[in-house]
Amino acid sequence: MEQVQAIRAGGTGASVPIEHCQVCGHSALENVLSLGYMPPVNQMVTIGEVPRQQPWFPTNLLYCSTCELVQLGLAVDPVIIFPPDYPYTSGTTRILRENFADLYAECAAMLKLSGDDLVVDIGSNDGTLLSNFQSGGHRVLGIEPTDVGRIADKRGIPTMQRYFSPKIAREVRRQYGAARLVTAANCFAHMEDVHAVTDGIVELLAPDGVFVSESHYLIGLLDRLQYDTIYHEHLRYYSLTSLSHLLEVHDLEVFHARAIPTHGGSVRVYAARRGSQKVRPSVAQMKAAEPKGAAMRERLATFRKDVLLSKLRLLSIIRDLKEKGARICGISAPSRASTLINYIGLDEGVIDYVCEIPGSLKIGKYMPGTLIPVVDEGRLFAENPECAIIFSWHIADELTSILRKKSFMGILITPLPNPHML
Ligand SMILES: [Zn+2]
Repeated sequence: MEQVQAIRAGGTGASVPIEHCQVCGHSALENVLSLGYMPPVNQMVTIGEVPRQQPWFPTNLLYCSTCELVQLGLAVDPVIIFPPDYPYTSGTTRILRENFADLYAECAAMLKLSGDDLVVDIGSNDGTLLSNFQSGGHRVLGIEPTDVGRIADKRGIPTMQRYFSPKIAREVRRQYGAARLVTAANCFAHMEDVHAVTDGIVELLAPDGVFVSESHYLIGLLDRLQYDTIYHEHLRYYSLTSLSHLLEVHDLEVFHARAIPTHGGSVRVYAARRGSQKVRPSVAQMKAAEPKGAAMRERLATFRKDVLLSKLRLLSIIRDLKEKGARICGISAPSRASTLINYIGLDEGVIDYVCEIPGSLKIGKYMPGTLIPVVDEGRLFAENPECAIIFSWHIADELTSILRKKSFMGILITPLPNPHML
């Protein structure tokens, strides 16, 4: 393996600038975009608490022309970005539940999983992904660093509350045996020291084992102007080209990949020990469609320009509404809403409140970096304000029909990719 100095913010209680590519170590990284300083998206202050000092971190995106990786310019200590009271649960989002059911069906058919096979999910969250494999009769184990793992445990899905590492991989292997399948959904781009993590995955895999990752897809991010998915949890923004490069360093070969709809556009990638699986045409097809080198540089420059224009257009719509005296609220508080709100510069003077569905762990907190309260959506239907901005715009169709059914009458705005009234 190439010697690449690991980025380690863990244990610093602070942050470390990324001066070398996280995957290949190349040091001449090019700046793609700067969103200014941002608060951690999941540290939410309880409403009414005395305002205290809060950390803000520079948020910029870098491009490595050697391995094609687009990455964040700063690594923040995971204890800051994944606090034990991390409020995200995947089971509450329909599109994620459906996606995990689809992942199970695809894996079960493709890998011909048997009852004895062990399936390990890294970053297993509330156990939604593994519940499908458990219902299918397979042995399952979740690894999840935050308290959300206890929800999974209560559902009967065994979960270790730890950060994944080669040490944990060896521990799991000793206790449970090798894994036929290791999954990492929406977390393989998050973990620092990705080379150690990948080594751990290789150690955990049986000789015929398969590693399936799902990550937000760089090309979809660029095409749909999803700059709001840029925040400190997401250290890397993979194309299939850059992800394959990373896995190859560890002798893993990508043998199948396909686009999936989660998080506004993700990629599901199947990898195994080199030569152990037949490589499908999907891999070459997807890689061929991705810009590289000078073409990628040009694509990123266009992205930077479009992000700025999108911000100015949204502000212009909001200004017009405010001049007419409209009350504006927000629909849903996903992590991405924090980037959008802070980059655009929205505060409690512009947005009265943000609604979440009953049961959300975010209700009763302020949106990060602001004094915009997150409230139960009942308030929206009781007050019927003139306008609502859909922060979960990537599922705007689904939300619009629900909101209309529940009799919300106001104007609905989607902030991205092109800000407009629905
Ligand atoms: Zn690189």
